[in-house]
Amino acid sequence: MAGTAVRGRLNTWQTATIGPVTDETARVRTLRLEVPDWPGPSDGQHRAGQHVDIRLTADDGYQAERAYSIASAPGEPLAITVERLDDGEVSPYLTQEARTGDQLEVRGPIGGYFVWEPGSGSGGPLLLAAGGSGVVPLRAILRERSRAGSSVPVRLLYSSRSWEDVIYASEFGLPPGGVEVIYTLTRSQPRMWQGYARRVDDAMLAEVAWPAALASPGQPLAYVCGPTSFVESVAAGLVKLGYPAGRVKTARFGATGG
Ligand SMILES: Cc1cc2nc3c(=O)[nH]c(=O)nc-3n(C[C@H](O)[C@H](O)[C@H](O)COP(=O)(O)OP(=O)(O)OC[C@H]3O[C@@H](n4cnc5c(N)ncnc54)[C@H](O)[C@@H]3O)c2cc1C
Repeated sequence: MAGTAVRGRLNTWQTATIGPVTDETARVRTLRLEVPDWPGPSDGQHRAGQHVDIRLTADDGYQAERAYSIASAPGEPLAITVERLDDGEVSPYLTQEARTGDQLEVRGPIGGYFVWEPGSGSGGPLLLAAGGSGVVPLRAILRERSRAGSSVPVRLLYSSRSWEDVIYASEFGLPPGGVEVIYTLTRSQPRMWQGYARRVDDAMLAEVAWPAALASPGQPLAYVCGPTSFVESVAAGLVKLGYPAGRVKTARFGATGG
């Protein structure tokens, strides 16, 4: 049964070969992963907002596993975007040592809750809010919106420490029609910077977020992703603005994941 095969594969570690790598910033790298048996268009390709688990095995057999959001849209080659935490175990390897042709293990795609899909059921308008590398699954959502020809209006509120830390800057520099990208740079700003220059707060959300009343009934209004503290404060701020908590989708990367 096809469904059984797909379900079985989700829980199975598969060998992936690292394809082309792209340095997004000094600390962030996108890795394309070539997985021979990756779910294809005919049998339940990955969905925007899902993640994979990555497993590394050292020469002495020690293993480490971490979750990484899928950076690519459904139908595009599987890619992850990883931010280096200098004192981390896995991210320094993926961002500094891993080379095209190296192999690692991948399991997935995983998750249904944070998924966005185009079509009449996708509602809108949508607010996407990202802290640091929390932008990765939101980029997949934006790419899926374009790929599917969706016209749902989207605002992406993207918080980074500095302009040099902005991931996908060139891609977001020319957003498709109907998409606005609003930056806040929390630690340093370029000369003449006219955007926000502080952490996301309630006043900023009140300026940027769509009025809750504009959204289609019963559909998600917001996707919020990043470090746990960022996600909790943005989600709480949106609820204060009248967003029903159940319509604010959140994904937490952990204490330092952004
Ligand atoms: C669903 C999901 C999706 C994710 N997607 C992405 C993504 O797209 N991109 C991305 O970059 N990250 C993503 N993450 C985060 C990612 O899974 C890793 O947590 C991140 O890369 C750090 O892993 P690491 O092994 O380098 O660091 P770790 O070794 O896990 O360390 C992380 C931090 O915790 C501290 N630490 C570790 N152990 C201890 C301890 N015992 N006591 C105190 N402090 C400790 C370290 O000093 C370090 O600062 C995602 C997480 C989740 C849950």
